[in-house]
Amino acid sequence: MIEVKNLSKYYGEFQALKNISFSIKKSSIVGLIGSNGAGKTTIIKNVVKLLEPDSGEILLDGKNISKLSEYPVSYIPDEPVYFEELTLYENLLFLCKIYKSDKNKILELSDRFKISEYFNNFPSQLSKGNQQKMMIVFSILRGFDLLIADEPFNGLDPEQINEFKNLLISLRDEGKTILLSTHMLDLAETICDSFIFINRGMLVAEGTKKELLDLSKSSKNSLESIFIDLVNQRGHI
Ligand code: ATP
Repeated sequence: MIEVKNLSKYYGEFQALKNISFSIKKSSIVGLIGSNGAGKTTIIKNVVKLLEPDSGEILLDGKNISKLSEYPVSYIPDEPVYFEELTLYENLLFLCKIYKSDKNKILELSDRFKISEYFNNFPSQLSKGNQQKMMIVFSILRGFDLLIADEPFNGLDPEQINEFKNLLISLRDEGKTILLSTHMLDLAETICDSFIFINRGMLVAEGTKKELLDLSKSSKNSLESIFIDLVNQRGHI
């Protein structure tokens, strides 16, 4: 279980996160939902330890993540990250070595996400969607308990969205915990067990769709209507 407690983060004078608290249950898929600039990427970067909280703490099974020598997290960033001078296959082989992963996973995952045909290309030569598929394969190659994904569906075609959804569901069913940010609320509804709504660096609400619907005054029951309604009710507190 991940617990974020009273997390605050500044960029210079600007406070991007204001005392945010939420928790994520093991073996669940949680959607981090917020408008542009709400603070999703900043939360994610704190959870994957790319940024350090200015105050507050993040706990994994009760232990502060800053004190863990091993943190079993894998991360799909919102922008692709790779070794520019290595081909796609060389990137995959290199990551496999670092993570001590089974080399067979490279082919299995690359075939599943249809990037094997680009093995000899440099990642910079791939289309945006294929780079996103590459980032998905990179992240799954390593062993992890917690997968954090920043807008992972961006650029994927409908078939690959479906493939990635199925993969997330099977990972969750194996016991992995997944936090993903997305603006695709229709899609989030179909896979997330619960949601964290944020606005202007503040927590608006968290819970299952049913719990959020009960909190909102929305007469429509789409996640989008519930989100808009709760942000209007509570977003500027
Ligand atoms: P989006 O949906 O547009 O990707 P987001 O919810 O991921 O947005 P963040 O990227 O976390 O939002 O940004 C939160 C706030 O912090 C925004 O106001 C943004 O302008 C600001 N911010 C983010 N990174 C920096 C930075 N490096 N320096 C200064 N301000 C920043």
